[in-house]
Amino acid sequence: MDPSAHQSSTETIAQFGKYVIPNYRRYPVSLVRGEGSWIWDAEGHRYLDFFPGWGCNMLGHCPPRVVEAVREQVGQLIHVPNTWYMEAQGAFAQALSERAFGGQCFFCNSGAEANEAAIKLARLYGYGSGRFKIITMEGGFHGRTYAALTATAQPKYHAGLEPMLPGFTYVPYDDLQAVANAMDDQTAAVMVEPIQGEGGINVPSADYLPGLRKLCNERGALLILDEVQTGLGRTGRWFAYQHHEMAPDILTCAKALAGGVAAGVMMATTDVALFLKPGTHASTFGGNPIACRAGLAAIETIENDHLLERGKAIGERFRAQFEALRAELPEHIREIRILGVMIGLDLTFDASDVVAKCLERRLLINATHGHVVRLLPALNLSDDQIDEGCAILAEVIREVAV
Ligand SMILES: *Cc1c(COP(=O)(O)O)cnc(C)c1O
Repeated sequence: MDPSAHQSSTETIAQFGKYVIPNYRRYPVSLVRGEGSWIWDAEGHRYLDFFPGWGCNMLGHCPPRVVEAVREQVGQLIHVPNTWYMEAQGAFAQALSERAFGGQCFFCNSGAEANEAAIKLARLYGYGSGRFKIITMEGGFHGRTYAALTATAQPKYHAGLEPMLPGFTYVPYDDLQAVANAMDDQTAAVMVEPIQGEGGINVPSADYLPGLRKLCNERGALLILDEVQTGLGRTGRWFAYQHHEMAPDILTCAKALAGGVAAGVMMATTDVALFLKPGTHASTFGGNPIACRAGLAAIETIENDHLLERGKAIGERFRAQFEALRAELPEHIREIRILGVMIGLDLTFDASDVVAKCLERRLLINATHGHVVRLLPALNLSDDQIDEGCAILAEVIREVAV
């Protein structure tokens, strides 16, 4: 690649300083091109990406079928408003429904929006019987818009923004009794991530989701699963709830939903979905043909390339590497939490130095919740790439963990 084809990272950073609101902490690198799990910066350096697109690029950078579908679609129609029918949206809805619990879809453009739709639908459904309260879990993450943010039971995200939306109750994660105690005849829904992502890759006990399903049935509340991060193959199944014998009433998904193109969806069983009547909710860009064609191409890629199976194998290879490292550093690695390509390495010390030192060695990873190394690698990561990245990560952890 010719680096002179791009403005330097320094120039881009200076431009941001002047014209872009500084609400993100950014690494001092401008990225210009990606292919699979490799990504290049403006200076032509190549990085191995174990966190492609913050979980959105689950098929790696620029997956060929997605690129082709988007190219074809932009030459036909870029946008069609939801006052018309369009083939791609119907086909994508059918593909998702058939891989989930047979419900219907409402499309939007992000995870927060999908959760807004879910919260609104739960309230619309409960309105006639006086049910409006939503129970969510401590340490959860549901997005940054006001209802999704209120659902996010982490005080640090609410600071300075109060008062939050009324009607939310927070209970500890993976605690069925706490949910049972919090429920009353005004409870509209319980909303939960099947695995907490931002909260530190927290995998609940096996009886948690089936237990929540049972509680909701007994008490007349809806069960909303936020699969924004776990959805569309991340855990080795299409959706994480499919590891259990149960299904939700409402499910949200975004991030990897459309092969890296911005898209979100709320799915609901048909009898719940009918409460989202014309006039109650809408999204101008939701379900646009580019996103839907990209999403169909993502599903086709996962199926044709057997990537759900591959995801499990990738997870096991990471596990073997990390178990060896833990045997070497038992004082520094508290726990290894892996389901498919959703990977958490719980350290006994702050992980931000690990991220910085990996970046110096051109390995991109993430840290969440202070001390958890979070990897959301692509489903088509190769064994060699896993070994190469794990070797770097192990060296860095040895170095930082003294
Ligand atoms: C990322 C995330 C969201 C928010 O998605 P946005 O697209 O950033 O609005 C919501 N829920 C979960 C579980 C997430 O991981």
